[in-house]
Amino acid sequence: METIVALATPAGNSGVAVIRISGDNAKSILQKIIREDLDFEPRKMYLKNVYTSNLVDKCLVVYFASPNSFTGEDVAEIQSHGGYFLAQQIIKECISLGCNMATAGEFSKRAFINGKMSIDQAEGIMDLINAESDAQAKVGSTLMQGKLKEKIQQYQNNLTDMLAEIEAKLDYPEYEYTSDESSDIKEKLKDLISSLDGLISDSQNGLIIKNGVKVAIVGAPNVGKSSLLNALTKSNKAIVTDIAGTTRDIVEAEYEYKGIIFRLFDTAGIHDSDDIVEKIGIDRALSTLENVDIVLRVSTPDTTCNVETDKPYINVFNKSDLLTSKSNQDYFFISAINNENIDALKEEIFNQTVKEGIQSDKLYLTNTRHIDCVKFASSALKNILDIFDSTTMDIVSSELKSAWSILGEISGITSDEAIIDKIFSKFCLGK
Ligand code: GDP
Repeated sequence: METIVALATPAGNSGVAVIRISGDNAKSILQKIIREDLDFEPRKMYLKNVYTSNLVDKCLVVYFASPNSFTGEDVAEIQSHGGYFLAQQIIKECISLGCNMATAGEFSKRAFINGKMSIDQAEGIMDLINAESDAQAKVGSTLMQGKLKEKIQQYQNNLTDMLAEIEAKLDYPEYEYTSDESSDIKEKLKDLISSLDGLISDSQNGLIIKNGVKVAIVGAPNVGKSSLLNALTKSNKAIVTDIAGTTRDIVEAEYEYKGIIFRLFDTAGIHDSDDIVEKIGIDRALSTLENVDIVLRVSTPDTTCNVETDKPYINVFNKSDLLTSKSNQDYFFISAINNENIDALKEEIFNQTVKEGIQSDKLYLTNTRHIDCVKFASSALKNILDIFDSTTMDIVSSELKSAWSILGEISGITSDEAIIDKIFSKFCLGK
């Protein structure tokens, strides 16, 4: 394998930068760049001068001998001082010594090819890197541990068992299935479909873990939408004034509650306006409404929210500090500036959007590619079940095979190189 190099830490200013080299020449490139013929003991850090054409930096270097490395190949890592320029100089030097620049995801792809991890584990690493919330990180680490692969592989094995039974008999066209045998296969199909459908329905929560819950705050000008955004996020992100029409564009902010990210969209007060800029803001507010998971319709003692939505909503009654009685069942009473009932409102938003809670030990599909594969497999199996009594076993067998292959796109137990390339190309550089 050709030897590749890339920065494994984010580009920019930092205390340290890690440059990763992987491939057959990793060790000799490391020797050349430190200008010493050292026989590295694997997994041991050495403090060495690293030479580039115009700089010398004291770095920590380490060598991992194949197969005991991230990629399964010989790997060298150089920990230089941070800073974009220095790291780039070292990378350039490695290239002049014979490395190729790694493409996005190439390290993980090699790890996959060398049996170091499955595709879903690799995707788990990406989720972990990109995780913003506690729940996201947990799901990423579940994937990384290969739990999804285990489950999907088990489903593939169930299909293989069914296929083995059917294929054995395909060689004897005169073979007649007894009704017991047919219903046995049908039962197995039903079990598998229900397991797949379970994964699909839980994936709604999986997507929430991954993407967060989108919450729009709507209402007339001056009802306290910006104050509510600030109270929920404990920030001063949105400008609060008593001048109507202050929020003209959408202000976005987020908070984390019970491990989930809630993304807030504070919209321009929706009302009839002649102001062109405000009108654009109002149009944006209305289109934001189409893409959110829940809407907070804000009213006050003197203004009732008249924004209609077909999304789930909560009627929030702000400025309730100005009221003497708060007895209306249709409203959730809060006071944004006094921080009154804000935590209870967070709980209400959570309950209305995160169905059945999030179980930390449960496996959630969070990747739309995985969800699409499972949906496809489930519908292929449903088709077979529908036509089972009126079709031939070779058609059943070919449908089972296509369900098996599509599940293989999650577990990695498939041989389609094009799919694998596509998946890894979405990774970032240095991974
Ligand atoms: P927006 O135009 O809907 O975003 O409203 P703002 O958040 O800018 O608030 C408009 C005015 O209402 C400001 O003067 C706020 O101080 C005031 N306000 C916001 N929340 C409350 C509240 O809970 N109680 C009272 N009494 N005033 C509030």
